[in-house]
Amino acid sequence: MLGEADRSKLRNLAAKAAEHAYAPYSRFRVGAALLLEDGTVITGCNVENCSYRLTSCAEQVAVARAVAELGPGIRLRAVAVANLNGATSMPCGACRQTLAEFGDDATLILYPGVGGGAMETTLGELLPSAFRAAYLEENTKIFPPETDVDQLPPWGPADSDATKKR
Ligand SMILES: [Zn+2]
Repeated sequence: MLGEADRSKLRNLAAKAAEHAYAPYSRFRVGAALLLEDGTVITGCNVENCSYRLTSCAEQVAVARAVAELGPGIRLRAVAVANLNGATSMPCGACRQTLAEFGDDATLILYPGVGGGAMETTLGELLPSAFRAAYLEENTKIFPPETDVDQLPPWGPADSDATKKR
């Protein structure tokens, strides 16, 4: 279990990261702090774009940064999010899926509640029945790794079960 002091520290690091947010459009400055299984903390902030849809959330920036710095084996123990707007906020739907790639149902999520209260939940609560990498294994039965995808018709191999069902 993560102690109260460590939770508080992680929340503060997320808030500190939010100070670097690039949020000229929404003015919603968000920070995230990831506590990895090895004890490393990696932070991120939101980075907006004038096209709006290319905006990166703080959690996604932090995850990308963690992978870039430490490699693909990172695992999330806890994630704190914070904002400098005094608003309640928790990871958006897209970020929940991003976090699920490197966390599990027990990954602790710390977030600000209404009025700035220190709230917490788990990734499993935020994203029940997450899409998992294991589901892709079904796909590899239809498209074995040795399949030359350039030779496939757009609807898949002619003798696959998936094709027969169509
Ligand atoms: Zn998000």
